[in-house]
Amino acid sequence: MRILRTIAEVRQWVRAQRQQGRAIHFVPTMGYFHEGHLSLMRRARDEGGAVIVSLFVNPLQFAPSEDLERYPRDFERDHQLAQSVGVEALFHPEVGEMYPEGYQTLVRVPKLSAPLCGRSRPTHFDGVATVVMKLFHILTPDRAYFGQKDYQQLRIIQQMVRDMNLPIEIVPCPIVREADGLAMSSRNVYLTPEERRSATVLYRSLRWAEEQVQSGERDACTLREGVCQRIAREPLARIDYVEVVDAETLEPVEQIEQPTLIAVAVFFGKARLIDNTVVRP
Ligand code: AMP
Repeated sequence: MRILRTIAEVRQWVRAQRQQGRAIHFVPTMGYFHEGHLSLMRRARDEGGAVIVSLFVNPLQFAPSEDLERYPRDFERDHQLAQSVGVEALFHPEVGEMYPEGYQTLVRVPKLSAPLCGRSRPTHFDGVATVVMKLFHILTPDRAYFGQKDYQQLRIIQQMVRDMNLPIEIVPCPIVREADGLAMSSRNVYLTPEERRSATVLYRSLRWAEEQVQSGERDACTLREGVCQRIAREPLARIDYVEVVDAETLEPVEQIEQPTLIAVAVFFGKARLIDNTVVRP
């Protein structure tokens, strides 16, 4: 596997793949890999083409009060794991390579960035859209793989690709969970054993909502309150939001009449965890 540190090296690698007639399949990440990341890489590999993964903890998507400095990092482990699932190149740039002195340009997808996580992290998705747009220009992938764990991020990238006429297929990938249902996340390492046990309430509450919809519940308010109550019963949980929104526009709904996103963000100690499910009538 090649480790690429500069944009020039990436462009050269991509050119070489294209000369062999290969498609480029891209998985953007911030590293500290778990099965969620690896599922995206395997999918990219299984769909053919040359797989390139970016590993970049993007400072632009962290607010000054957030966990940029202590975000978990382990390059050697990530290197081994990526290699084990057949990744062919790992793009691991320095911050200065992505944002040289004097960098200014931002990409915004304003409507989709405003609700849900955008409310408590108002600049986060500008940072995400900007870095992904830069990576798309640098790597020129044919396909890019995104987890539904970060559902709002996925919707924003889909909208950006459409709005900017990028010839890239965005491939949404299902949420990978631990055996007890907790969605895998690099940030789960922040949890104490007690918080780790409490955090399973997120999946249990979402499952409850799914079952309600399956048995005919259509009222968004009832679902939202039910999820809120279940999470609030956990003393270690501090709710940021519980929302029931249209799965495409992310606007609030009153009734479950279309594919609908039930999304939660909850603090357990220092860790802010997100999870979601899409329900259909
Ligand atoms: P991150 O390194 O957290 O920026 O995540 C990189 C990619 O992996 C994003 O597309 C995430 O949505 C995806 N991802 C993270 N956790 C999971 C998970 N538990 N299941 C599926 N995809 C995930």
